[in-house]
Amino acid sequence: MKAMILKQISRVEDMPLKLEDVPKPDLKLNEILVKIRACGICRTELDEVEGRRIPKLPVILGHEIIGNIESLGPSVNKSKLGDRVGVAWIYSTCRKCKFCLSGQENLCENFQATGCDANGGYAQYIKVQEDFAYKIPDKFNDTEAAPLLCAGAIGYRALRLTGLKDGETIGLFGFGASAHQVYQLIRYLYSNTKVFIFTKRKGDLPYIFAKEIGADWVGETGENPPEKLDKAIDTTPSGTPTVEALKILDKGGRLVVNVIRKEEPIPQLTYEHHLWYEKEIKSVANITRKDVIDFLDLAAKIPIIPKTKEFKLEEANKALLMLKRGEYHGAGVLKIE
Ligand SMILES: [Zn+2]
Ligand SMILES: [Zn+2]
Repeated sequence: MKAMILKQISRVEDMPLKLEDVPKPDLKLNEILVKIRACGICRTELDEVEGRRIPKLPVILGHEIIGNIESLGPSVNKSKLGDRVGVAWIYSTCRKCKFCLSGQENLCENFQATGCDANGGYAQYIKVQEDFAYKIPDKFNDTEAAPLLCAGAIGYRALRLTGLKDGETIGLFGFGASAHQVYQLIRYLYSNTKVFIFTKRKGDLPYIFAKEIGADWVGETGENPPEKLDKAIDTTPSGTPTVEALKILDKGGRLVVNVIRKEEPIPQLTYEHHLWYEKEIKSVANITRKDVIDFLDLAAKIPIIPKTKEFKLEEANKALLMLKRGEYHGAGVLKIE
């Protein structure tokens, strides 16, 4: 099969992924082989390539995978040949640690991440345990469905962790692939909530898009919105938005930071300005299977149709570089033959 392989940590500018012919994976107990149709490009892949989240090497990146089941391994009993399924960031868990046993499998001691600890979707095939593959609603074509699996599902988890109630105000810091799905979730679930969107610079691509979509207010990070924030989600790779969000939270407000790694340090917090009055800050780590299943269901009902830009498998380096440079908006997706 064809795959784009990462062999060593490098700068994305060095075009580090190499197209190679490698054997199709052998199936073990409970595993299915999926012929991949589309794989989304996620910011986490920049962290992996550049070494902020070290993957096993060599590795095939990619954790927003849509495809059809091509063969079944021993003891597979729920899946059928030809079924369309998705594979997300959660590749496998131990199912016996205290986190797995308490519904927090995202924190599993042996959490294996797709396209990081196990081979992912920048390829023609992937194997995965059938319990870690999801049925994809018919509402979406392959390209539309891919970004739902990480950007969307983890955005849903972040929104859930804010504890937002209808009528409260929420600030979104950064407005990329994840935040634009979160925005649609908020509009559907909380019709009386005001959404304030903060981007890096007035007039940048996310700013223009946030204006178009009809947010209640759009401004630059560091500006004061019309009202204080009850809740906030920070999806940016920079450090400043974290501090700026805490500063404009209302008393008892909560900030959820939804990134796997920050690309720069978070500036100094002061207890008085950023945390006093029972303000909270929380991160989002990984995802559970239930998050993915619940989100796909909701996404089909709303429906959330992500804005996408397609690339070919062999253009993965270019797609990552364009993502790093902010040269397209919405979600990049590799369309795989
Ligand atoms: Zn991701
Ligand atoms: Zn576990």
